[in-house]
Amino acid sequence: MTERKIKNTDRIYEKDSSVSFFEATVLSCDGGEGEYKTVLDRTAFFPTGGGQSCDLGTLNGIEVKDVHIENGEIIHVTQSPLAVGEKVRGILNFSEREEKMRSHTAEHILSSILNTKYGLSNVGFHLGTVDTTCDFDGVLTLKQLNEAEDEVNRIIRENHPVYPVFPTENELKTLEYRSKLDLTEDVRIVMIGENGSVDKCACCAPHVKKTGNIGYFKIVDFYKYKGGTRVHILTGIKALERARDDFEGIKTLSALLSSPRNAQSVSEAAERICEENEALEREISALNERINGYIVKELPDTDLAVVFDERKNSQTLRSLCLSAAEKVKTAAVFGGENGRFTFVVAGEAAQNIFAKMKNSLNVRGGGKEVICGTAFASESEIKALFDGENI
Ligand SMILES: [Zn+2]
Repeated sequence: MTERKIKNTDRIYEKDSSVSFFEATVLSCDGGEGEYKTVLDRTAFFPTGGGQSCDLGTLNGIEVKDVHIENGEIIHVTQSPLAVGEKVRGILNFSEREEKMRSHTAEHILSSILNTKYGLSNVGFHLGTVDTTCDFDGVLTLKQLNEAEDEVNRIIRENHPVYPVFPTENELKTLEYRSKLDLTEDVRIVMIGENGSVDKCACCAPHVKKTGNIGYFKIVDFYKYKGGTRVHILTGIKALERARDDFEGIKTLSALLSSPRNAQSVSEAAERICEENEALEREISALNERINGYIVKELPDTDLAVVFDERKNSQTLRSLCLSAAEKVKTAAVFGGENGRFTFVVAGEAAQNIFAKMKNSLNVRGGGKEVICGTAFASESEIKALFDGENI
């Protein structure tokens, strides 16, 4: 183990979020087998924390697989070792970092608006790969969130400055700011707007330098969560891509449904089709019951009725089998395609019939009073099995 003389790494990302590459010196490097823990004297890599995953990139061309805080040190997990004292050049995967900064700053703006308007607090935040989730400690409506979304986009357009301040303990006493933790030391406040006119919030993560950098803000989903509301948000290019996908989806659906190309018309057309479909299903079900009645009426008065039917619907076949088993002692119904029948067996000798089927045919299924399953056999094989049987 290398002794770590310096515990603290200068955190470049806290002061300047635009730094995408930097020079640093290796203070220590431990580990082995493709996983080395490297500590630097300074870093622009943000370590995982506060709902935000770490920055990734390279140190002297060596992949940085993870960055986290361990025992008060910022650990860069690298693929290969780096020599202690070596000067390294760190390069961040900056497009990914920019995405995170856009979402994080947008979350601060949204949280500030919902805090000011409805007194709600942000109690959870997660920057995911698909979208970002923000949890609030109160129930929100679509109208309230639509208004908040408009407000966030207005603040983005106004292009307010975003910058960190590091107040002293004394200054903190008079400063009003949003915070999840009750810290008094090393507090970093992210200011949005001149003197925090839009928001002041304690946060350790890097943010965009101007609200305009967020580009576009969209709430893509929300629902009740743990007594409050979980809101899914997207920003920048990801929000644009989602809007494009949704637009393409509406275009496809409008062609399929022969409806005008807008969300409301497509929804109304889909609702109509669902209603028509339900009505048709009710009609088909009634017709199937009538057909079942005719089939059962024609059955000869024997102990076992073996019925083949082209219909595949398992509910229809089950209903037919139960009706048939009421007339004869035992009924076996095989529905669907030759070679792959859906079967239902019911009645006095159902278990015997099923045991016989299992012995001679490739069948899958089971049950107590009513046995259902699939028989991978031809009609002639099944008929041969029951031919002349007296059960
Ligand atoms: Zn934050």
